[in-house]
Amino acid sequence: EALNKILDIKGSIRVFCRFRPFLWTDKRRIHEPISIGSEKIVVKLAGTRKEFEFDKVFLHEASQEDVFVEVEPIIKSALDGHNVCVLAYGQTGTGKTFTMDGTNEKPGILPRALKELFHQASSDSSYSLTFSISMLEVYLGNLRDLLAPKPLYRAYEALTRCNLNIQSDSKGLVEIEGLTDVPIPDFEKARWWYTKGRRVRSTSWTNVNEASSRSHCLTRITIYRRGIASEAKAEVSKLWMVDLGGSERLLKTGATGLTLDEGRAINLSLSALGDVVAALRKRKAHVPYRQVLNSKLTQILKDSLGDHSKVLMLVHVSPCEDDVAETVCSMSFAKRAR
Ligand code: ADP
Ligand code: MG
Repeated sequence: EALNKILDIKGSIRVFCRFRPFLWTDKRRIHEPISIGSEKIVVKLAGTRKEFEFDKVFLHEASQEDVFVEVEPIIKSALDGHNVCVLAYGQTGTGKTFTMDGTNEKPGILPRALKELFHQASSDSSYSLTFSISMLEVYLGNLRDLLAPKPLYRAYEALTRCNLNIQSDSKGLVEIEGLTDVPIPDFEKARWWYTKGRRVRSTSWTNVNEASSRSHCLTRITIYRRGIASEAKAEVSKLWMVDLGGSERLLKTGATGLTLDEGRAINLSLSALGDVVAALRKRKAHVPYRQVLNSKLTQILKDSLGDHSKVLMLVHVSPCEDDVAETVCSMSFAKRAR
């Protein structure tokens, strides 16, 4: 039983690393990395060799399918009642959104996970499975409901969509007051909603890149599982898919024209997340959710980063020589989590 416990702990957090392929707009390619086995990466920085280990490494040739094969077991554990968090971490432009959303031709984890959930719902007749979706954006400590019904006035919109309260009950369950949560009966409806959420997110910024580098985008699929015959209450679990704000501010705040506040907010919430994940990994008795700089991000995810949850951190890195310092930063962040 002790062994089982150890295995279970090891099983609750996974850290993967994905290299973006070299694009024609890139300048100099990293001559390393060398991948040793499939889990070790060596990066050369200013003449020193840095070695990092991951649960899995995806080099540039890895397809969306290759990635999803490794993610799928974690998605499935959400169907067994675990809360699950899939987090895309990394410098802007390294492929976080590509991994999570993907494109029409190369769908990412979110659409593939939804397909999988609906597939399970239609093939498992011993349970009734139903799902709902919510989407929100966290920017400078404000929460914005991305699926809220269209309000009459923009001023009103700004108010109602930015001031959601995070509640945590005595059992530690987190609820976000007033957050729109829509039932999704099938994959097409689900796709319609998350496409809408993406659109709402990007139209409020002058460009999409700005939105994705300055804010965190969180998608929550709630899973309700009921026994067929019984009147018992549904078991509820949450599957979070998180496209995190760009991590480059950890290295050089202000370098990309961000305001100091924006840089700080992203910086603080990412390091708070790192602290929580590191504490979980080490099995510390007290996980510093709240006092770690009062980060909204970790408060929201609190009940999905805890004991019975599964966490997958996908660290994204650039294949370029010019980004190697950022790459080492991202990998060092990941090292704390492992
Ligand atoms: P991020 O969300 O981290 O800022 P993006 O997902 O927007 O980065 O990726 C930046 C660019 O690189 C996009 O044009 C995207 O299509 C491309 N890209 C990223 N990862 C891959 C990949 N694995 N295969 C092909 N293109 C990719
Ligand atoms: Mg992005």
